[in-house]
Formats: sequence, structure tokens, C-alpha cells
Amino acid sequence: MGKSTKILRLGDPLLARICQPVLRTELHSDTFVSQVAALKQTLTEFRLLNGFGRAIAMPQIGVPKRVVALDLRHLNPDLNPDLNPDLNKSKASLKRDLDWSVAKGPIALVNPEITWRSVESFKMFDDCLCFPDLLVRVRRCDSVSVRWMDENTGEWRVVEKLPRDEAELIQHELDHLDGVLAVDLAEDKEMDIITRREFEEKKAELLKTVDYHIA
Ligand SMILES: [Zn+2]
Repeated sequence: MGKSTKILRLGDPLLARICQPVLRTELHSDTFVSQVAALKQTLTEFRLLNGFGRAIAMPQIGVPKRVVALDLRHLNPDLNPDLNPDLNKSKASLKRDLDWSVAKGPIALVNPEITWRSVESFKMFDDCLCFPDLLVRVRRCDSVSVRWMDENTGEWRVVEKLPRDEAELIQHELDHLDGVLAVDLAEDKEMDIITRREFEEKKAELLKTVDYHIA
């Protein structure tokens, strides 16, 4: 288990950096192994503390490397019987080199790349561990395919045509690796960035302005 690290906050210039790819020869170096462990531990602790948080990107803990940690155990129907059965049926047909919902803890995607984007898009309110008190109305592609390097073997893995909930998460996290935050994507900074408090107060009305909401 690694040591958790402080999550940088909105406005920190380190969040705007374009991150460097990880070399295959670096995967087993002490530095990189401890950076990945710290990233996973930071996500785990955030989830314990806040009850949410599906993923974190390495620049969010101040390390400019192309790595994302994901913890999607809530998507596992065995662990979460309330999941929409239709959604799970559609997921069963996906090409997955790795079913990340059955991982026992966070997994790391090294050098992840979006290899395909759907033409269709949708609007949603997005949030971020770097600004937990804000929500941002953004447009995301309905689906993407992603490939990444396995943190242990260095082999490429792929998941194709992700469903919307996983696709929007991957788009959010990979944007971090290019120094892009959800607030940068707001078309209208006045209208599309709101406080979580304001969102909760006007939730019913605001949800009519988007196509999808993270449950
Ligand atoms: Zn984020």
C-alpha cells in the first residue's frame, strides 16, 4: 500500500501541464511503482472520506506522467445488484481485455489513449476531485474506445466502445493528462459552472438542461 498524497486544487498551474508518456523501462522502477501506489491510495482514501470518486489522474497529485487510476467496483453487478440490468447486458457484449469492474482495488492505466470517438455526444454535469464544490456542464462523446499499457506487463490492453458512464469518465481523466479540466470545456463560463450547493437547490430544473446525470 502506498502513501496518499494531497490532491491539487483548481487554479494550481501544475494541473495545466501536458504530461509525459511513461517509458516501458520505467514501469518497474522504484520511483514509478511508488508514484502509482500513491495515486491508487489517494483515490482509495478520497472514496472512503467522500463516498464517491471513480478515478484520478497522476497530474492531480502533482506528477506530470500519463497515468490514470480507476476504481469501478460499483459497476460490478455482483457487488451492486441495483444496477440497471439492460446496461449490464449491453456491457457483456463489449470487447474487453480487462474487466475493470472485477478488479479488487484501483487499477492503473499507463499511457492511455482514446483510439475512437463516437460522433454522437451528450451534455452532463461533470465534477472533479480538484474542485469538489463545483459542477460544470460539458459535452462529451457518447462512447469511446481506449487502449493503455498494463502497469505490470507493459502490454497494450484495449476496451472498445465504452458505455456512456465509463466513456465520460475516460474522457475526463485523459483530458487531465493534457492539462485540460472540465471547467476549461464549459461553453459559457457564467452559465455552465455552478456550485454544488446551487446545483442541489435547483437540481430538477438543471437536470432538464442535460441528457445524462451520474447517479
Ligand atoms: Zn478531474
